[in-house]
Amino acid sequence: MKVLVLNCGSSSLKYQFLDMENEEVLAKGLVERIGFEGSCLTHKRPNADKYYVETPMENHEVAVKLVMDALMDSEHGVIKDVSEIYAVGHRVVHGGSKFADSVVVDEDVKASIRECFDLGPLHNPANLMGIEACEAAMPGVPNVAVFDTAFGMGMSEEAFLYAVPYEYYEKYQLRRYGFHGTSHKYVSGRTIEFGELPEGHRKVIVCHLGNGASISASIDGKCVETSMGLTPLEGLVMGTRSGNVDPAVVQFIAHHENMNVDEVLNVLNKKSGVLGISGISNDFRDIEMAEAEGNARAKMANDVFHHSVIKTIGGYAAIMNGVDAIAFTAGVGENGPETRERVCASLGYLGVEIDKEKNKVRGVERLISTEDSKVKVFIIPTNEELAIARETLALVK
Ligand code: AMP
Repeated sequence: MKVLVLNCGSSSLKYQFLDMENEEVLAKGLVERIGFEGSCLTHKRPNADKYYVETPMENHEVAVKLVMDALMDSEHGVIKDVSEIYAVGHRVVHGGSKFADSVVVDEDVKASIRECFDLGPLHNPANLMGIEACEAAMPGVPNVAVFDTAFGMGMSEEAFLYAVPYEYYEKYQLRRYGFHGTSHKYVSGRTIEFGELPEGHRKVIVCHLGNGASISASIDGKCVETSMGLTPLEGLVMGTRSGNVDPAVVQFIAHHENMNVDEVLNVLNKKSGVLGISGISNDFRDIEMAEAEGNARAKMANDVFHHSVIKTIGGYAAIMNGVDAIAFTAGVGENGPETRERVCASLGYLGVEIDKEKNKVRGVERLISTEDSKVKVFIIPTNEELAIARETLALVK
């Protein structure tokens, strides 16, 4: 059974095509500049040359057709016929308070995704376009929506409610949702499995540290806390996002810089974080390199980032009254031994002790804490595409 996984942005489309018999990736690729001049598709198969097509694509429907052509191409393809596509799994960013789980798409689901446009204005319209493009291009093939917010729906009211007039929650479902849910669910589950955590010892903190960064706390795989909020802006300091700020900062910047609220939010989303503090880059590799060369603002940016991670882990350990395992994942979490070491160095009070030699790796699944460490610490590479493919198959099988 072969499953296509799609992650649609407003002008891009990432895909992976997996054989679920052995969970092998048969092909993957990226379509860029949909609706713009110079639109192109890059298609890759393991151990084969890249296949690159540059052709006009006015919308997602054309893009999806091109993906199918690539998958069925006589030279670069991996299937002969559309009937070999068993189902399509779509990453949908915002499910509002309706979806605590993945669902098979029907007209009602599409209407609900549309209702969430104001909650996820940058992503949900593109996600829906991707679904509709697949319906048109592959009639009869089931589509499954896998929501980034679903994992956070496990939180209880004390964790998800903002202390603003309750009527806003009742009227607009204004609450903390959390994002990167597919990754947090996959990594927390994998931590329990890989770490062989016994029942009653499954308090897990997952640090998803990439350009976007978030932390979750879960017990037995059920989310109890997560750092992103109504939007992905809340929580940790990130590549370009500020994370938590006093809300009055918005008014202060607006007054002093003569901006409206949307413009200030654009600054907080796109020009802040380690980019904003360092003035150098949103890429943590650049920040680390500049810090090593003695750049004071790069050091400051990195320090503020680590501070926010350490503070959040401590808060979540307190909320769960303990922690059994901490897992690092995503770009920096998987590939940044320095970040893992610096964060863990401040968690000695929890009984965290990492083995510096074991920590000197990038991108592998591994236990990196010492035998004596009271809390097990892991690197668990995330795999959102595989998680989406599994959820998809489970629903349509
Ligand atoms: P992601 O959003 O998960 O793709 O992660 C992207 C971030 O991971 C970027 O800021 C990268 O600089 C960072 N990253 C990737 N490799 C490394 C590395 N070897 N050391 C530090 N950061 C890294």
